[in-house]
Amino acid sequence: MTSRDYYADSYAHFGIHEEMLKDTVRTGSYRAAIIQNPHLFKDKTVLDVGCGTGILSMFAAKAGAKHVVGIDMSNIIDQAVKIIEANGFKDTITLVKGKLEDTELPIKEFDIIISEWMGYFLLYESMLDTVLDARDKYLKPGGLIFPDRATMYIAAIEDQDYKEEKINFWDNVYGFDYSCIKDIALREPLVDTVELKAVVTDPCILKEINITTAKKEDLTFTTPFRLKSTRNDYIHAFLAWFDVSFDCTHKKVSFSTGPHAKYTHWKQTVFYTPETITIGAGEDLTGTLSCAPNLRNNRDLDITISYQCGEFSDSVDYKMNGSNRI
Ligand code: SAH
Repeated sequence: MTSRDYYADSYAHFGIHEEMLKDTVRTGSYRAAIIQNPHLFKDKTVLDVGCGTGILSMFAAKAGAKHVVGIDMSNIIDQAVKIIEANGFKDTITLVKGKLEDTELPIKEFDIIISEWMGYFLLYESMLDTVLDARDKYLKPGGLIFPDRATMYIAAIEDQDYKEEKINFWDNVYGFDYSCIKDIALREPLVDTVELKAVVTDPCILKEINITTAKKEDLTFTTPFRLKSTRNDYIHAFLAWFDVSFDCTHKKVSFSTGPHAKYTHWKQTVFYTPETITIGAGEDLTGTLSCAPNLRNNRDLDITISYQCGEFSDSVDYKMNGSNRI
């Protein structure tokens, strides 16, 4: 493949799979949820949506699945074929190259769907739509989905130093006024890790998604939030993250991508506010967050946060478009 092909097929290079596989919170949680529940997998048919290198398919086969079908539209599946063979799973795992939505699968009904579909801010470039399609087309009534619940959270943070470096930097670049870029930079949420001590308010749930029942329309939403401050401080940004859980399992395996939890490659997402907000302990910062796929480019997310704190109120339109990763 040329570098141009790799650009069009962003999952083709092993590097992105290396990052996901080395994310032990992510991969270890899937492994625990699958391997520790052989009673759920024994003699079952399993569909792995977006199988990548085949790791989840192999967990399912090890857990006793009768047959696993892994599908992926990226050329990484050529490596998955070799990996499945090298590990002795050729008879239990069938791999299919193609886009789930446009491909006929060799099995028409499955007992279990497994998929790692989550993106930054949960929904950015996420393939949840594809998983919902797979569910409606292939999952037997009463079948299981791994994972089956995702929860998005919001809080507010003190982030003076980093805001200075990333946003206010544009006020003075080698003595020149670059402030026109400041407004653009502010509207791009930043994917980065944030220390727990930067969090000024209690977190608030933004959205719960039950994967067994969710509809595509549910991924466009407006939710009110109320954030209670835990101390007197300044607020420079909102912070969002998500948790994922496998509720259908006995031990309810779950993991969090929040600032209180162990590092994951999803980090957290930071939304800088134009003005610094001053808040007192026990005071509320209230608002609404709206999230929708961009109408022109549905890979991008349009996010609007409107908020009030005391006399102060503002509303900011953000756009996640892939250039915001640290
Ligand atoms: N399951 C693997 C890879 C997860 S990354 C693991 O856990 O390590 C998501 C994978 O889904 C990528 O390899 C991507 O190519 C694939 N994918 C995304 N949308 C898809 C679609 N509509 N049809 C088939 N594969 C898809």
